Amino acid sequence: MNKYKNGLTVITGPSGVGKGTLVKKLLEENKNIWLSISATTRLPREGEVDGKHYLFLKEKDFRNLIRADGFLEWAEFAGNLYGTPRAEVQEKLSLGKKVLLEIELDGARQIRKTFKDAFQIFIAPPSYEELEKRIRERGTDSEEAITRRLKRANYEMKSQSEFDAIVINDDVYEALIEIKKLIQ
Ligand code: 5GP
Repeated sequence: MNKYKNGLTVITGPSGVGKGTLVKKLLEENKNIWLSISATTRLPREGEVDGKHYLFLKEKDFRNLIRADGFLEWAEFAGNLYGTPRAEVQEKLSLGKKVLLEIELDGARQIRKTFKDAFQIFIAPPSYEELEKRIRERGTDSEEAITRRLKRANYEMKSQSEFDAIVINDDVYEALIEIKKLIQ
């Protein structure tokens, strides 16, 4: 059962688990859900567009935003900074919109403190081996980045019990059905 009292849902899960694909499909089918565009200091991957996939910021600008209290949450992940810009999320929530955040574990923990009614979903891979295969097949990260992401994935996997629901992303369509049921 979804608490969903304040309209905020958080999707978390290790890098490479397929959160991005699930979120994309969810948004295609549910036009009433609004996805927050995060800011990051990571460089754009091929095909990523500034303002659509992320707001790509220089570290100095990101840190200025932190000081100005411009983020609902922010975290360092695999050597880069990521954060949820505060203003737009608050505006959408105040208009009664359903808001979705796709963020890593530290950010989810911060949101849990400030939005006690937010519904938090953990997307898990069918196995650690499968996760490693997916990250490698993505082919977008250096070997060093892959190692850092896998180490971090190990840590994130241990946090599953903190979440309101766990969805195993073995088959994308089955996972999507489960998520839709959870946030209905
Ligand atoms: P990627 O570099 O693969 O796009 O994202 C790396 C990780 O950062 C993913 O787990 C993603 O969910 C997370 N992430 C993306 N945006 C945010 C954000 O605004 N805040 C936090 N805490 N994590 C984020």
